[in-house]
Amino acid sequence: MLIVMQSSATSGEIDQVVAAIREHGLTPHVLPGATRTAIGLTGNTAAVDAGHFEVLPGVAEAIRVTKPYKLASREMHRDDTIIPMPMATIGPKTFTVVAGPCSVESEKLIFDTAEFLLSKGVRMLRAGAFKPRTSPYSFQGMGLEGLQILKRVREKTGIGIVTELMDTEYAEAVEEATDIIQIGTRNMQNFSLLKRVGKCRKPVLLKRGMSATLEEWLMAAEYVMAGGNYQVILCERGVRTFNDHSRNTLDLSVIPPAKTLCHLPIVVDPSHGTGKRAYVPAMALASLAAGADGLMIEVHPDPDHAASDGQQTLNFDQTAKLLDQMKALAPVLGRQM
Ligand code: PEP
Ligand code: MN
Repeated sequence: MLIVMQSSATSGEIDQVVAAIREHGLTPHVLPGATRTAIGLTGNTAAVDAGHFEVLPGVAEAIRVTKPYKLASREMHRDDTIIPMPMATIGPKTFTVVAGPCSVESEKLIFDTAEFLLSKGVRMLRAGAFKPRTSPYSFQGMGLEGLQILKRVREKTGIGIVTELMDTEYAEAVEEATDIIQIGTRNMQNFSLLKRVGKCRKPVLLKRGMSATLEEWLMAAEYVMAGGNYQVILCERGVRTFNDHSRNTLDLSVIPPAKTLCHLPIVVDPSHGTGKRAYVPAMALASLAAGADGLMIEVHPDPDHAASDGQQTLNFDQTAKLLDQMKALAPVLGRQM
């Protein structure tokens, strides 16, 4: 349920509605808007009569939200969500590029990549310190040492950081080191992890599960938001299909329905989406055209010797060329880069 306050509602009236929601054993989520405040309710709202709230002073109306995902739904929040960060903003009218090596491999790699990206106007670097690998014998990431490298590069260069959290155990350490907490495809339905990042203060980049429907993906976002962290960025990274010409099938057709049903920004990861470096630029440009709010790509100075995912990683020259193409295309589509 969504309670829409009158534009003239006072903070005292908002507090009174919040208290009434709590008295019913439900959780209030205050959603300030450009002209008026709305208050979302989560919990078992089925048994609650909207009339209880409609009679309270300052309330304009109480609306039932029909979708199972409530806080993620456009019914609850009409405007697009904007994620402001110190180094970049993700949301409408912009197209934000996040790039970097699959893994933190060394301090030099991260510094060199950050310097290259900043010289090209890219202000967010992604690199995994903890890596979810299919084989237990593959490189698992540098762990806490990798987080220290990310912290140092942020301090020295000012670049924003995106890195993955795999276990609740490391939530505090990852939150401290990063600007956006990535949740990987394999953890999209790791509900303990989703609840934990719901308590974090940093935005969460939620990759789509490799076999998740749009509704399952939005329900995963709902887990994070229900915990009080409303800053969720969806990331399409390809799903499993029968095809054998690419690692995954990058489902750009999910963007329009996701934008219709949900107000959260979406970025696209064509590196994992295709699994082949040669196909990344075309799908990156297609993501921009399809209405994505940003891109997350794997970039490395020497991809053929990368510790992970080198086959789908662009080198610096290829990245620079793609960025030039995107910078030319973005304004045609009304987007700023
Ligand atoms: C990654 O971003 O390097 C990664 C492991 O992604 P995914 O969870 O999409 O496989
Ligand atoms: Mn990777």
